[in-house]
Amino acid sequence: MMQKKRKAEKKPVPLAMKIFIALVLAVIAGLLLQNHVDFAENYIKPFGTIFLNLVKFIVGPIVLFSIMSGVVSLRDIRKVGLIGGFTVLYYLCTTAAATVIGLALANIFRRFYPVLTTGELSYSAPDSVPPMEVLVNVFPSNFLTPITEGVMLQVIVMALFIGFAIILLGEKAEKAVEGINLWNDIFMKVMEMILYLSPVGVFCLLCPVIAANGPKVIGSLAMVLLTAYIGFLLHAVCIYSMTVRTLGGVSPARFFKGMMPAILFAFSSASSVGTLPINMECTEKLGASREVTSFVLPLGATINMDGTAIYQGVCAVFIASCYGIHLSLTQMASIVVTATLASIGTAGVPGAGMVMLAMVLASVGLPIDGVALVAGVDRIFDMGRTTLNITGDASCAIIVSNRLRIKHK
Ligand code: ASP
Repeated sequence: MMQKKRKAEKKPVPLAMKIFIALVLAVIAGLLLQNHVDFAENYIKPFGTIFLNLVKFIVGPIVLFSIMSGVVSLRDIRKVGLIGGFTVLYYLCTTAAATVIGLALANIFRRFYPVLTTGELSYSAPDSVPPMEVLVNVFPSNFLTPITEGVMLQVIVMALFIGFAIILLGEKAEKAVEGINLWNDIFMKVMEMILYLSPVGVFCLLCPVIAANGPKVIGSLAMVLLTAYIGFLLHAVCIYSMTVRTLGGVSPARFFKGMMPAILFAFSSASSVGTLPINMECTEKLGASREVTSFVLPLGATINMDGTAIYQGVCAVFIASCYGIHLSLTQMASIVVTATLASIGTAGVPGAGMVMLAMVLASVGLPIDGVALVAGVDRIFDMGRTTLNITGDASCAIIVSNRLRIKHK
């Protein structure tokens, strides 16, 4: 306890502050380097890529061990089922609501979107996968590929199977429980070490984007960015405020204040999984139990993406509008379903949501090349959507903890 307190006093605020400073410096340096984009691309961006690679490298083990450790700490399969069922339902409902908000806002703002000549666009989209194959692909066919290839839904399934087996074995598997908790701590430590590099990572990732795009592109895409950010804000203020108050019994002001370090970190790192340790710390300080956070948060960082869903709704309407296409109500309904499912399949790492946007566009017959329209400023979208993504995960952890009376020990 004492040790934890000391830890909490030492880290989060200074790190969040450093990241914020890095963010401001990146914008300034990016603007200054507008005539030296090659320099920014060749000598600054690689350090950002190193940081990103490190985050991606730790994602698999973190999700595997933190979900296993969460499951075994609940010690009861029914309890896991209850919490898991509630969590998935909450995640699905809030994500569907997010897509509706995104679509509604984009339709209000669509008159401000330009109709563009799109001759120069190019974006090679991944092949779309039929729905039943998506289901089949959730289940791993061997032990290593999910980790080596970062297929997060398969990692979750593996973690659940192993966790259940350990619970069923009872005392016999006591050593495995200790081992899993220990490895969980070790990987969290590695993540912490990577996070210390995040101010540098953030600077090196953002600076080239600003240098290359400058105020020019940002200006022409300002309306669609504004629409998405209004959506992020609305969803946080309306949906999360309401759910944490009514379902979790926590005042929204206390919730958002307590979440500030995680929010700031997510905004600058654009990675839900990277934000996991800070998110756990914040939610636990707000009263959520470790048992719940170690299960609900990694699950959320992998499958719950409300910000990504809003972005996909907004961008679908924006892209349609740029091509002069009017979306029918059926197409919009189809976007709600696909964007909700696509956000489940989106990994909690920077840029993942943009790849899934292609799938959403394809599902309603919109040109996938349209992704290129928003690709230049994806980082700016990503910062906002990741912030919303992790706030949604946190709201669920608080609600589950308080509703199921699993208080912080
Ligand atoms: N970067 C987002 C996240 O980590 C995912 C996305 O690209 O939408 O939550």
